[in-house]
Amino acid sequence: MTPADQDKQPKKKRQPVRSRAAESIHRRLVGLVKALLTRENNEALDGLPDQIELNLRVPIRLDRDEINDSRNFARSLLAQVESLKIQGETEALGHRSGHAPCYWCNAPICEHSMPVDHHSVLTGWSPTGVPIWKNLTSVLIEKKDEQIDYLYGETPGPVIMWRSEDDLLGNILPEYLNDSLFAHPVGALLSGGFPLPMPDSDPDLLAITALILESRAGRNVPRYSLNLISNVPAPHHLATLVGTGTSSILYNWISSLRASLNDLQQQLSGLSQKGKRSSLQASRELVVELLIESRSHLETLRRRSQRRTLHAQERSRDPDRPTSAAISDLLACDLEDLFHDRKESTVVIRGRQGRIHIFTVNGRHITSAFYSNEAILSRIARGRWKPMDRTTGNSFLDQIHRILPTQDGDSAASDAS
Ligand SMILES: [Zn+2]
Repeated sequence: MTPADQDKQPKKKRQPVRSRAAESIHRRLVGLVKALLTRENNEALDGLPDQIELNLRVPIRLDRDEINDSRNFARSLLAQVESLKIQGETEALGHRSGHAPCYWCNAPICEHSMPVDHHSVLTGWSPTGVPIWKNLTSVLIEKKDEQIDYLYGETPGPVIMWRSEDDLLGNILPEYLNDSLFAHPVGALLSGGFPLPMPDSDPDLLAITALILESRAGRNVPRYSLNLISNVPAPHHLATLVGTGTSSILYNWISSLRASLNDLQQQLSGLSQKGKRSSLQASRELVVELLIESRSHLETLRRRSQRRTLHAQERSRDPDRPTSAAISDLLACDLEDLFHDRKESTVVIRGRQGRIHIFTVNGRHITSAFYSNEAILSRIARGRWKPMDRTTGNSFLDQIHRILPTQDGDSAASDAS
C-alpha cells in the first residue's frame, strides 16, 4: 500500500455487510461440528485439520418439498463430518488416514506414503519396506484381469482386485517389519474406475486403495480400521467424494464396507466381553471374509448400473468381442485412424464398425471396445483424441509390426476372420 492509498483510506470507509442470520447459522454449524467431533468421554480428537470445508446444497426454487431438502442437507452434512471424525480417530490407531505407512523411513507420512497420481494403487511393500504404487491399468494387465474392459469402455465402470496380507507384505524383509509400531496391514481392495468430474474436461477416473489395518496397542481386542488411500486431484476431496452422492457406486460401496467393518468390530468386542475372545488368526480370517464380500458387493453394484446402460451389457455378451479384431483392424488402418489419447497417454486405433483398440505407446495391446459414432466424434472434437502426426504414426505402426509375431493370446489375428 502506498502512502497515497493510506491517505485515501479513512475518508471512504465502507461498512462490510453483516447478516445476523448468516452469523447465527455459522455459530450453530460450528457447534454441531464440534459436538460431532467430540468423543464420548468429552475428549476432542487429535490430528484434525483446523478447518473443514463443507459442501452444502441449498435449493433456490421455492415450490419444492422443503422437508425432504432439509433432511438431505442434514444427511450430507453429518456424513461429511463423520468422515472427518473417522480420519481423526485413526490418528490414534497407528497410521495416518490417506497414507500407507513406510517401514523404510519409519514414518506414517513420507514421500513414499501416497500414490503419485489418482490412477495408482498400493500393490504392497518392497523388501526394504517402501510402499509400492502402481498404475491400476498396469496391474490389471499384469494379472491378465479382464475387468480392464470396464476402464476403457464407452461407459466406464468400476474395477476391483483383492490383495491378501501375504500379497502385500510377502516381500518385505523381517528386519523392516518386526518391531514396527505401525498398524498391521491385513488385506486391501484395489479399486478404480470411479467417475471424477473435472472442471475443464471429460470426467476422469479415480483409483482408490481400501487398506484394512489392525492395531493392537494396549487393547484386548484388536481394532481394525479402514484406510482409504487416493491422490485425489483438486478441487476434489476424498471425504466429500466418499461421503456424499447417495446414488453413486463409490458411496454405496464404501458405506457398506465401513458398516460391515463396524459390525465386525462390535462382534469381536462382544465375544471378548463374554470371555470368548477370538484368536488373532480367527479375527484376521473374519476381516479377509469381509473384504472378499465387499469385492462381490462392488461387482453387484457394477452389474446393476451396467444393466441400466443396456447396450453396454449387450455388447459384453457379443460373441464377436472387439478384442479379436484388434490386429486385423490394425493391419487395415490408415494413418488418420491413429490417435493419441491425451488423458490416458495411450494410442487409440479406430477400427471398423465402431471398434476401438487401445494400445500403450510401446505397441502393447491393452483392450478393445465398441464406441458409438457420437462418442468417437465427440472425443475427437474435444481434443481428447488427437490425431497422430505422420511421423509418429508411421513409427508406431513399424513398432507394432516388429512385435506382432510375438504378440499371442486373445489378440491373435487368426481369430478375426
Ligand atoms: Zn518413506
